[in-house]
Amino acid sequence: MDRRRLIQLGTAGLIGAALPARAQTAGGLVPLRLSPSEIFKITVCLRPFRATGPRIEAEKIGGKTIIHNYGHGGSGWSLSWGSAAEALRLAPSRPLLAKPQKVAVIGAGAIGLTQALAAQRAGMQVTIYARERYPFVRSGGATGSWTPDSRVALTSAAPTGFADQWERMARRSWTMHNAYLGLPGAPVEWMDHYHSNSEMDPALIPANLPPDPGCVYLSNRLHGTIPRGHMVDRELHPFNAELVNVRPTLIFNIAAYAHQLEQDFLIAGGRFVPADFASPKDVARLPEKVIFNCTGYGARTLWSDETILPVRGQIAWLPPQADVHYGFRYKGIMAMARRDGIIVQQVGPHDGLGWNDANEAPDIDHARLTVAQFRDAYRVV
Ligand SMILES: Cc1cc2nc3c(=O)[nH]c(=O)nc-3n(C[C@H](O)[C@H](O)[C@H](O)COP(=O)(O)OP(=O)(O)OC[C@H]3O[C@@H](n4cnc5c(N)ncnc54)[C@H](O)[C@@H]3O)c2cc1C
Repeated sequence: MDRRRLIQLGTAGLIGAALPARAQTAGGLVPLRLSPSEIFKITVCLRPFRATGPRIEAEKIGGKTIIHNYGHGGSGWSLSWGSAAEALRLAPSRPLLAKPQKVAVIGAGAIGLTQALAAQRAGMQVTIYARERYPFVRSGGATGSWTPDSRVALTSAAPTGFADQWERMARRSWTMHNAYLGLPGAPVEWMDHYHSNSEMDPALIPANLPPDPGCVYLSNRLHGTIPRGHMVDRELHPFNAELVNVRPTLIFNIAAYAHQLEQDFLIAGGRFVPADFASPKDVARLPEKVIFNCTGYGARTLWSDETILPVRGQIAWLPPQADVHYGFRYKGIMAMARRDGIIVQQVGPHDGLGWNDANEAPDIDHARLTVAQFRDAYRVV
């Protein structure tokens, strides 16, 4: 990030200046209170991207069946349930009414938790082995919105049949996420997202930004299921932008969702065991004969899978506002009022942002600069 730019903003009194919290605005929306001085946390997460899409396949090691379910890029939360269902199909079949099969799941992120729950629903007795649990898993650093085709594969590398499998995963996941609506704590809920056509601050475009990698976009396969957006008349929105579109979006309040999934797993008789595996041989020593490998970016080291590419993303967190419940994309930055905090994240200019960048250290200056972009985001009347 551009330090000089940050200093300029600081001297202009813009950093640290809170927006008026309850100012009357056109459209009646309360402004998000976005002040760099209120950042209380910065998280960095690596999307586990594979050019060919998530790895969902079985492998035999010794007498064990290892079923891989990792590499979901920017879509792990969104596709989790459907991906678990695809992986479950690869488990060896068993006679009806046989004794419950004991299986292992490695990993307790979005993919591991949903894999474990899907296996329990199929009558299996599940133990999750994991080095980290929420909030220390990388899944804890996700934006938390329904983005089933975000950085999930490259158009140039996705195998034949990928789009069909993606659609199955997305539809299955959609149904399951919907089953968590309306619960206490709102693990999943609807939120209006406003998008504006405002220009990005050039200071936020990294000098070494790689070209747009050309990811697959498949959401048009879900038309008829997922609500579409519409333009909002200027007098009906408070934002300082010519063109604004609004779309209802499903979002995941990740703190509540992760806790809910963990509780559901424990209530169904599941067990967590802390474990750190150094190699596939280590994994094969587990007592269970069927093992789901849901290690996300960790599979790059554990399974020596260098087809996994890190795609870095950073989020700045501000205190939640009880009366504010929408998301807004302005100048290539997204702010979203989740219940566990308002999150602010650079999303533009394109999918090349953070590409092949494995740096998990937070960039505080960059976080402050992204939040400061919102200083002129509202037309206050
Ligand atoms: C900034 C950002 C925003 C995002 N926003 C969204 C979004 O809005 N919607 C969406 O759907 N997706 C989003 N994603 C993508 C999503 O976060 C990932 O796809 C998802 O977290 C992958 O989950 P996972 O369970 O595979 O991996 P992880 O969360 O990394 O979990 C891996 C698990 O495996 C364990 N593990 C790993 N290696 C070992 C080992 N050797 N031994 C023992 N245990 C091991 C870990 O401890 C952990 O429990 C975002 C990603 C980023 C970076």
